[in-house]
Amino acid sequence: MTGQVEGRPLQGPENKRKETSFDSLVHGEEHQRHEEIPSFDGGDGASSGLVSPVPQRSGAQVGGGWREQFADAPDVLKTSPDDHTVVRAGGIAIGGGAFVTMAGPCSVETERQLMDTAWRVAAAGAQVLRGGAFKPRSSPYAFQGLGLEGLKLLAEARAATGLAIVTEVMAAADAPMVAEYADILQIGSRSMENYALLEAAAKTGRPILLKRGMVATVADLLRSAQCVVSYGNPNVILCERGIRTFETSMRNTFDVGAIVVLKEVSKLPVIADPSHAAGRRSLVPGLARSAVAAGADGLIVEVHPDPDKAWSDGEQSLTFGEFGTMMADLAPWCALRAACDYTETYA
Ligand code: PEP
Ligand code: MN
Repeated sequence: MTGQVEGRPLQGPENKRKETSFDSLVHGEEHQRHEEIPSFDGGDGASSGLVSPVPQRSGAQVGGGWREQFADAPDVLKTSPDDHTVVRAGGIAIGGGAFVTMAGPCSVETERQLMDTAWRVAAAGAQVLRGGAFKPRSSPYAFQGLGLEGLKLLAEARAATGLAIVTEVMAAADAPMVAEYADILQIGSRSMENYALLEAAAKTGRPILLKRGMVATVADLLRSAQCVVSYGNPNVILCERGIRTFETSMRNTFDVGAIVVLKEVSKLPVIADPSHAAGRRSLVPGLARSAVAAGADGLIVEVHPDPDKAWSDGEQSLTFGEFGTMMADLAPWCALRAACDYTETYA
């Protein structure tokens, strides 16, 4: 269908083009006439000869509107294309160019489980050990974590392997204690909008790994990051971990596009959690690959010595062998990512 929208002519008589004569073309009048037509700058459609039923805005105005949704998070937005925050924790730089992998069990269970996992993920290339001591479980009957005992085991694993530690803090009152043992404090998906927790965690001075709420928009995530920064802590790592949608084939829908958006608008490092997005270990390597291609600065992945016996999230946890294979398979993708200039904006 051309020239009409719902039976209405797009090219009204008032916009009809003048007849072009051979003489005017030869003598340049036609060319001159085109130059006189204003460029498309919020005008009336004169340059295209079309009359739109809605008021038209220029590309710049439309683009400006898109960015306005992030305006409540001014301190985490880029001020120039190469403006980026490098978060340093336990001798590791996140967001500084090198791809960083955090790996470990969903929950800290036993010394043996944690130590075995720490050594094996380190050997496969992970730089940060994850493990929950305080677990936000959907069921009150499920394992809630070892608490302080778990934190002590994490600190032991750091002392033995040199890995930095990331672990979740669930309550504001626990923030100083968790910060004593951890290099990075994780704010879980369920806590992204717990502002008292954001404040307490921020004020410990430890870097914050801020997971996207499962029903949070990218703008919501950035607003929570802004809260942390506003409390005087600029060291925030954003994490895409999947969101709730109508799709049921994965535990959550992995929003790989959010990584692209965050890398474009925010200066903060962005990592991906393919484990909690997938909910199934077979899907984890594919999601991890897509995160690398999207420009993520790193991954956080669940790994367990015997996933079928894990006390939490075993279905999505990789075995040591699977983790090693995934890391090896990711290497060429990481090399490609390093060769690309993700600081460039296409806007
Ligand atoms: C976790 O990392 O084990 C966890 C509970 O993550 P999320 O907050 O993303 O569900
Ligand atoms: Mn988990």
